[in-house]
Amino acid sequence: MRLIFFGPPGAGKGTQAKKVAEKLGIEHISTGDILREAVNKGNDLGKKVQVIIEKGELVPDEIMNELVKMKIKELNSFILDGYPRTLEQAKSLDKILKELNKPIDAVVLIDVSEEEVVKRISSRRVCPNCGRVYNLITLKPKNDEICDNCGTKIIQRKDDREDIVRERYKIYQKTTHPVIEFYRKNNTIITIDGSKDVEEVTKELFNMLGRFSQNDNN
Ligand SMILES: [Zn+2]
Repeated sequence: MRLIFFGPPGAGKGTQAKKVAEKLGIEHISTGDILREAVNKGNDLGKKVQVIIEKGELVPDEIMNELVKMKIKELNSFILDGYPRTLEQAKSLDKILKELNKPIDAVVLIDVSEEEVVKRISSRRVCPNCGRVYNLITLKPKNDEICDNCGTKIIQRKDDREDIVRERYKIYQKTTHPVIEFYRKNNTIITIDGSKDVEEVTKELFNMLGRFSQNDNN
């Protein structure tokens, strides 16, 4: 089974992709892992990636496409998580998969509204001393905004601020919309309501994927 997962930041896409991969016994390919793997290999491409990451820049499409191609060449079944991010990447992936004769079975879209994403992410807090992560709605410290672990006052990361989260959501919508439309033409899109809690979303996902895995020998 070959799947692609999409979802806005804070949708739990990575968590769900990992759970499904585990359950089906297939590889979970995240862009973060691919990049780390490339850097660890330390070859020319890996060194290039390292420089780009250290500068805090986005890895260019042609490098990302090449890394994904190398990865999926070896695999028959996989879940792609975080790739393709753009329409250009989707077109490149399409070409690669056609060459390898490994078509995508379904595209999973974990749908969460902007308000829900804002609520989830802007309530995150972190301890600046020990790094423990909290959430003021779902995982509160015992004493008002004081780290349970070390007693330091917990803080909000800049990336978790409401204005930044809204901006990221808008960027996600803008870049992902054309990618989803691209897949809608030729692929099954499975849309999951990601606003429920993690276990419920997983259950629904497994139900919907069931009919695919039954027909799959891998
Ligand atoms: Zn702490």
